[in-house]
Amino acid sequence: MQFIDLKAQYAALKPRIDARIQQVLDHGQYILGPEVKELEQSLAKFTSSRHCITVASGTEALLIALMALDLKAGDEVITTPFTFAATAEMIVLAGGRPVFADIEADTCNIDAARIEAQVTSRTRAIMPVSLYGQVPDMDEINAVAARHGLAVIEDAAQSFGALYKGRRSCALSTFGATSFFPSKPLGCYGDGGALFTDDDGLAQAAREIRVHGQSGRYVHTRLGVGGRLDTLQAAILLAKLERFEWELERRAAIGERYERLLAGLAGVQRVAVRGDRNSVYAQYTVKVEDRAAVQTALQAAGVPTAVHYPKPLHRQPAYEQYRGSDPCAVSDREAARVMSLPMSADLSEADQDRVVQALTVAVNLSASSRPDAATQRSLPRAARVD
Ligand SMILES: *Cc1c(COP(=O)(O)O)cnc(C)c1O
Repeated sequence: MQFIDLKAQYAALKPRIDARIQQVLDHGQYILGPEVKELEQSLAKFTSSRHCITVASGTEALLIALMALDLKAGDEVITTPFTFAATAEMIVLAGGRPVFADIEADTCNIDAARIEAQVTSRTRAIMPVSLYGQVPDMDEINAVAARHGLAVIEDAAQSFGALYKGRRSCALSTFGATSFFPSKPLGCYGDGGALFTDDDGLAQAAREIRVHGQSGRYVHTRLGVGGRLDTLQAAILLAKLERFEWELERRAAIGERYERLLAGLAGVQRVAVRGDRNSVYAQYTVKVEDRAAVQTALQAAGVPTAVHYPKPLHRQPAYEQYRGSDPCAVSDREAARVMSLPMSADLSEADQDRVVQALTVAVNLSASSRPDAATQRSLPRAARVD
């Protein structure tokens, strides 16, 4: 069993993908060829965004968004520490300072109620992350931003296709930034990403920054990067888009099936999904005690797992200097417990049953090797394992 099955996806789409790749080889416009424009139109339509600007990766999308907003040295961007490093990394690279606000324990998304306390006169933007494929409380986040005149960049690297109150992730704030890394909900066969915005000026800025700040050929009006999406990757994405709605349905069905099968299992907590939105399950993540033991048992049973993420950013050497007034204790606690299970649109029910069976055995094993409840009650609170 694979953690994410990309081979089955290619097998299902092979004629379409191969034909699209061949078309690019035939016309030879490898940089900003016609497929790039076609993809941008399709993605803008899919998300109901005015503009889509494809870029070289999800990381590049975040950087270009911050550059388009003209982030200045020392400007603060409020974000979550419970994310992939690229989120805070690009804030620092763009000259800013990440300011961490803690997460909600049940969704692991940034806690919108903790953001306003972190706003200062230096705050320029909020960068929430739609973790595991679910958008955070974006209305509340946008309201804080509006009160203080801040931009909001949704790091939607894990949530392309997700719905929030009937609207698509990526089209919910100043900028939406997504990734087409192969294992993301919509992946290409290399690096890729896209930015979404309704603001004409910001879209123009992002387009210029993507090609070294050029407003015309060899007219460099601003600082930019080499941040284009390859035509070949755009062609692959166009072929994959044809099956994407089906994949979203499969992901939803497999996610719901996990929810059902794991609902009564003691020792396994699930990440909550709010009723007014869905998750595209970039990861299907659960929370267990004794994670290392559970992972070892699952591995022995042939079930691969992964941890997203073992250490929140305020504990990482490169980012601990940005620790602020929010202790981010919830992030610390959840980072020690989260574990992602195999998930992809092509995961079979038989394989999913094997995952659930192996997990049931693993958590029972680890529970029976832990001190019993009576022993635990006699321990000081900090020493308990519950
Ligand atoms: C994957 C990811 C990124 C980076 O995307 P790349 O395309 O790999 O550069 C950024 N943020 C989050 C939350 C991600 O999961």
